Amino acid sequence: VVVVEGVEKSFGALKVLKDVALTVRRGETVCIIGPSGSGKSTLLRCINGLVPISKGSIKLAGREVNDKNLDKLSLRRDVGIVFQQYNLFPHKNALQNVMMAPIHVLKQDKAEVEARARKLLAKVGLSDKLSTYPGELSGGQQQRVAIARSLAMNPKVMLFDEVTAALDPETKKEVLVTIQDLAAEGMTCILVTHEMGFAREVADHVYFTDGGLIVEHAAPAELFGNPREERTKAFLDKVL
Ligand code: ATP
Ligand code: MG
Repeated sequence: VVVVEGVEKSFGALKVLKDVALTVRRGETVCIIGPSGSGKSTLLRCINGLVPISKGSIKLAGREVNDKNLDKLSLRRDVGIVFQQYNLFPHKNALQNVMMAPIHVLKQDKAEVEARARKLLAKVGLSDKLSTYPGELSGGQQQRVAIARSLAMNPKVMLFDEVTAALDPETKKEVLVTIQDLAAEGMTCILVTHEMGFAREVADHVYFTDGGLIVEHAAPAELFGNPREERTKAFLDKVL
């Protein structure tokens, strides 16, 4: 579903991505790990077209993301992205947050959108919080609303950028289980994460980035159990 080839990205003189390649097949869960500043968030933002690339190609469901003629709305529909900070609308309750985009962006029928939003909130375990406002939800609950909100667009791929980094261990677990369920249902997921346990258990494939490069990538058992590159070993020694 996602094919990244030869991607370079510079911000002014700063080269943030240098020749990055990554392939994610339909239904796969891929984790991207690596030190701070290695370009992980930038890569995700390039994949959903938030950040234009300087060189290379990113194909999503067969279409070039940076194609000037590509309909930005259809790209926004196809790729859901969830960030560390939840960015929910504070004056809308959970149900309204999930319903916003399908109604206002996609102009879908309100009754149908509401029925689907209820199902999605049930899926993320929040059936009892439909009319609760973000300020009265825990961090993990807000993050699960944010996930349901992304799913409401019916995306082909979900991107997660350190979505559990700001959460305490228990709420972290709730959110990780939600993502694990999604992955098990066949959603294609790309996660930037520092949760090595999750990467090891859930990912089909793990990419290690450093200095704007993919240093190595492999199945988790291989990458964690038998890393080939010194830089990967050094990183894993620090975080495991
Ligand atoms: P972290 O683990 O800390 O989130 P990261 O791997 O996600 O790090 P990025 O956020 O992709 O790293 O940033 C990579 C580099 O690109 C950093 O040096 C950052 O300062 C720079 N950078 C990111 N976005 C911009 C921007 N919009 N303008 C200029 N520089 C940027
Ligand atoms: Mg980041």
